Amino acid sequence: MSWLPPLREELRGIEPYGAPQLDVPVQLNVNENPYPPDADCAADIAGAVLAAATTLNRYPDREFRALRQGLSEYLAVESGVAVPWQQVWAANGSNEVMLQLLQAFGGPGRTAVSFAPTYSMYPEYARDTATGWVAGRRREDFGFDLEHAEALLGEHRPSVVLLPSPNNPTGTALPPEVVAPLCAMAAAMGGVVVIDEAYAEFRRDGVPSALELLAEHPNLVVTRTMSKAFALAGARLGYLAASQPIVDAIRVVRLPYHLSAVTQAVASAALRHAPSLLGKVAELRAERDRCVELLRGAGYAVADSDANFVLFGRFADRHAVWQGLLNRGVLIRETGPDGWLRVSVGTASEMAAFSTALADIRDNGVATPLLEGSQS
Ligand SMILES: *Cc1c(COP(=O)(O)O)cnc(C)c1O
Repeated sequence: MSWLPPLREELRGIEPYGAPQLDVPVQLNVNENPYPPDADCAADIAGAVLAAATTLNRYPDREFRALRQGLSEYLAVESGVAVPWQQVWAANGSNEVMLQLLQAFGGPGRTAVSFAPTYSMYPEYARDTATGWVAGRRREDFGFDLEHAEALLGEHRPSVVLLPSPNNPTGTALPPEVVAPLCAMAAAMGGVVVIDEAYAEFRRDGVPSALELLAEHPNLVVTRTMSKAFALAGARLGYLAASQPIVDAIRVVRLPYHLSAVTQAVASAALRHAPSLLGKVAELRAERDRCVELLRGAGYAVADSDANFVLFGRFADRHAVWQGLLNRGVLIRETGPDGWLRVSVGTASEMAAFSTALADIRDNGVATPLLEGSQS
């Protein structure tokens, strides 16, 4: 086989992105909610799919009004912010929402900016839409450095700024004192700011959502997903709230009928069961806080987390720690700055399995934390 397809130059030799999908007992690697939908919810979803099946000869509602209405109602309850359904948009996962944002607002000759450590998919959306990519940095403690951001925006004049809050992989949420000036700065150069709130429902008490800033900043986009707290990763439904001009721009680049009738039916049915699907969020937040305490107590450096995962370290050989855990049936994620690892928050028994496995490999001398100030 000597024939090669005419792959774009910048895509040659690149491996498809994705965390390893391994069949192990304790899966704490992709920040899923460990609790599946209950029987009532599953039955309602099945009924909605059955109803949708009777009209599958027809294309679905291209504007998916019922679903957007449901998402708008959910946002009002969750965050206290009223966003009319016309200002809500959805796609197959918030990954597709963000790709659409870059299709509309990025492109050749334009630049997207984020601040590392940040979500590893952002540079891929940029690459796939031929948008320039620039990554600034966060502070040592993963806090946001507004002065550095100002300088970087001034230098590169990005049309899109992408920021997860809470941040993946660190778990750090952005305060409004950062988001508001960033929006103003970006607006002055004609750019949009995307606050990716995939983990918003896990934020600690008193941490606000960027949704509260939406009314004041027409260039602000807040993305959300049903994949994490909402326990619906398999359904592939992400969404955004933004000003009308932003939603109208995305409607230009979306593929016709991009949300299938089945997806719309599943997501709308799931929204009717929001209280039960989100019913374990309080427990997961408590489990997260226990995990942070436990790791700190064991001498690890641990980033404060407003999400359903914890970044901890540092290790001279993080791969050996990751492998040691995997050998004991616990899959976590080798991601983030060198020397750090990320563990998703699972059930109490999964977290117990994780800490037992970690203590066990530490007894074997592998998972010893580096002392701060020492070099890896
Ligand atoms: C998991 C995650 C998402 C969600 O992706 P979906 O496509 O909605 O499943 C978005 N942003 C970040 C930072 C994430 O970690």
